[in-house]
Amino acid sequence: AIFKNEQQKHEELKRLDKKHFLHPTSSLKQQQEEGPAFIFTEGEGIYLKDIQGRKLMDSLSSLWNVNIGHGRKELGEVAMQQMGTLAFSSAFSAWSHEPVIRLAAKIAEMTPGNLNTTFFTSGGSEANDTAFKTVRHYWKLKGQPEKKKIVSRKKSYHGLAMGATSATGLQPFRDFTTSLAQDFHYVESTVESLRQLIEEQGADTIAAFISEPIQGSGGVNVAPVGYFQEVRRICDENDILFIADEVITGFGRTGKTFGMDHYDVVPDIMCIAKGVSSGYAPLGGMVISEDIHQELIDLSDGIFMHGYTYSGHPMCCAVAMKNIEIIERENLIENVRVMGDQMLQGFNWLEKEHDLVCNVRGLGLLGAIGLQSKTEEQLAPKVVNEALKRGLICRAVLYDGQDTLAFAPPFIINKQEMDEMITILHESLIAVEKDL
Ligand code: PLP
Repeated sequence: AIFKNEQQKHEELKRLDKKHFLHPTSSLKQQQEEGPAFIFTEGEGIYLKDIQGRKLMDSLSSLWNVNIGHGRKELGEVAMQQMGTLAFSSAFSAWSHEPVIRLAAKIAEMTPGNLNTTFFTSGGSEANDTAFKTVRHYWKLKGQPEKKKIVSRKKSYHGLAMGATSATGLQPFRDFTTSLAQDFHYVESTVESLRQLIEEQGADTIAAFISEPIQGSGGVNVAPVGYFQEVRRICDENDILFIADEVITGFGRTGKTFGMDHYDVVPDIMCIAKGVSSGYAPLGGMVISEDIHQELIDLSDGIFMHGYTYSGHPMCCAVAMKNIEIIERENLIENVRVMGDQMLQGFNWLEKEHDLVCNVRGLGLLGAIGLQSKTEEQLAPKVVNEALKRGLICRAVLYDGQDTLAFAPPFIINKQEMDEMITILHESLIAVEKDL
């Protein structure tokens, strides 16, 4: 009888999901035909459990964000404590509270160079929109309102608010709507392409260049050697601000605190989200350099006319602070380095074992396996399917004609779990090969 109840509940949830829940970034037709593939009920460590009792390894930390792993009761306790004392108060104007102050100070301590002041948002898209508005505001205050163009890289992903969509280099996201924000330009991932664009458009029309240290949604693309150092020089020479979108790479994902740390490049502005709170509470932010901060203060002609209701939400800030404490206390970035090496070794082995694997790449616990079939058909969805049968959730990246599997396991993954992940991928690739 209990089983029957569970079954009924599952059917009811599926029905309600189809009718009432519009899923983000999803096939609406597939939703209607098949209903939700999983209804998750629990998370523990690197595993998720669904309503049918299936236990699945979460090899992407859900959306590259649950970095400290699932089921951390400590974060629930902090959230409860904060909600019980001060659930919400505005941070507009001159109002403030301790969680936001402490978190801003902590972020300043962690970020490189003189990136010392944070504006908070609820996620990465808002963080990037905030950065685009801020750099334009900055140049306007400096008497150069025509310096307003934003340059991003092809295959980049910067989120889906209007500004963030406009900066996103992956075409399918921009094609979703008929009209975008103005003054966005895209370059290839070469310094020549950036130089050429600056020449064509004029440095006096360009406000900022934005890039992820490693492109995530675009397929885990590591930039060419020396690229960011040269881009930093070009930006300096041309008075163009450099925005690093560290939404995925920030707070340890690549084995250093920030992705740009690998290149010894200090951006003028850093956008953060995901890993700052490991997804336990929605939070993002824009961190600006002391120079920009000081100019904004000195040149300001009034109010910084930008702010969200949830800019500096007390509970989200308290949760983020505890998340960072856990990353430091458990030395998780060191584990990212060790396990990242093991992951890449595993990928290299898969490349040797399987003709379908044409390249592997990664840095820390951010990696990808590129696939190639002799025909046109895309293999990644088939591997995802086979992996799922064997208890592993992984993600296919198919934009821009790619055929890639992307990975970003939680920082707490251990050797045995990593072995298991590689073994499942091996078996899944064999199954796909057999079927071809
Ligand atoms: N920037 C990067 C690099 C991202 O990967 C994402 C999300 O995946 C975003 C921005 C957008 O963040 P959010 O989805 O929190 O708005």
